[in-house]
Amino acid sequence: MTKTFRTLDDVDVKGKRVLLRVDLNVPMENGRVTDLTRLERVAPTITEISDKGGKVILLAHFGRPRGRDPRESLKPVAAALAEVIKRPIGFAADCIGDVAKQAVAAMKDREILCLENTRFHQEEEKNDPAFVAELAKLGDIWVNDAFSAAHRAHASTEGLGHKLPAYAGRTMQAELDALGKALEAPTKPVIAIIGGAKVSTKIDLLENLVRKVDALVIGGGMANTFLHAQGVPIGKSLAEKDLAATALRIIEKADAANCAIILPVDAVVAFHFAAHSPSHAYGLDAIPPDGMILDVGPQSIERIRAAIDDAATLVWNGPLGAFEMPPFDRGTVVAARHAAERTRAGKLISVAGGGDTVAALNQAGVAGDFTYVSTAGGAFLEWMEGKPLPGVEVLKIT
Ligand code: AMP
Repeated sequence: MTKTFRTLDDVDVKGKRVLLRVDLNVPMENGRVTDLTRLERVAPTITEISDKGGKVILLAHFGRPRGRDPRESLKPVAAALAEVIKRPIGFAADCIGDVAKQAVAAMKDREILCLENTRFHQEEEKNDPAFVAELAKLGDIWVNDAFSAAHRAHASTEGLGHKLPAYAGRTMQAELDALGKALEAPTKPVIAIIGGAKVSTKIDLLENLVRKVDALVIGGGMANTFLHAQGVPIGKSLAEKDLAATALRIIEKADAANCAIILPVDAVVAFHFAAHSPSHAYGLDAIPPDGMILDVGPQSIERIRAAIDDAATLVWNGPLGAFEMPPFDRGTVVAARHAAERTRAGKLISVAGGGDTVAALNQAGVAGDFTYVSTAGGAFLEWMEGKPLPGVEVLKIT
């Protein structure tokens, strides 16, 4: 595929002050990082720039502070990152001003410095030009390695790209390559599996996908809305009945674009919304009026497996059932394991993303077998919606 954005292959970082935007927005409990995934993801870019003789200046946001708030300092995160990369990381208590300038001026080549939470300044989210200019003073080039923040046009995620020479870091590069292979220039046929609770949060995504994929599997709570729209009685299942017309419009658009819509043909129904509550599989003509659909049924699972077999590329977002409550994780787990098996056999390119999706694939024990799993939530969804991501657009070669 032709490369459309600049990467670390296009710049000599030796001796340069590299402002590196990373995602350090990790889960913390009692001052300790509870999941190192994001830190592990940014490690290769940091060590590569350092090994090549660059000065690595880390920029990141953390949480949603209103002004300066010690509870949302990046200091403990920088310490955890230092442990992950097994190198010392300095810390400056502000990302602009004298504190930051002096810390950067004291850096030697190869050293790594983390600047304090960019969101301690409200100008960050406003992409304020004066704030961007202050940040830009600290670096010679800007490298963006935070795909997960690329749907935001903030000072450190987008603004800097207009002030300094801009490059994608290795994690960003891997993400863009994987996503490009999944939807922009995919090996056909392409199948998308979309699940999750609601249609309302994924209308744009569904409308974009029906134009791009050959088959679209719809599962989870959102499938109930589609079934209801088609006149299937769904009992007490979660559904957005007021979106029936939207569901029908999506089906029409899919027809017009030659995209096969694969809806459940049977369902696992329980009478209590709780793990291990007694349940049975029912055909769509027999859903009990006081029951709740909590997973796709066995025949539906077979259809989904067959659809995966027919595909060369798979894009997945959202669980097929209430996967947090066993046994209603079965549809998601069986489909995920099947996709993983086809991927291992070299028959499928599989890309998945979005918060709950990563958790569901981890639960099925197969996240490592997919071709690519994006840990980005909002940015992954906006990419699936076909929207340009500001933090990516600014890296493009024009
Ligand atoms: P989302 O964040 O939109 O991807 O939705 C994920 C949530 O949808 C998970 O918490 C699932 O438990 C929930 N979900 C999936 N299928 C169902 C269903 N049939 N009934 C109720 N909740 C569901």
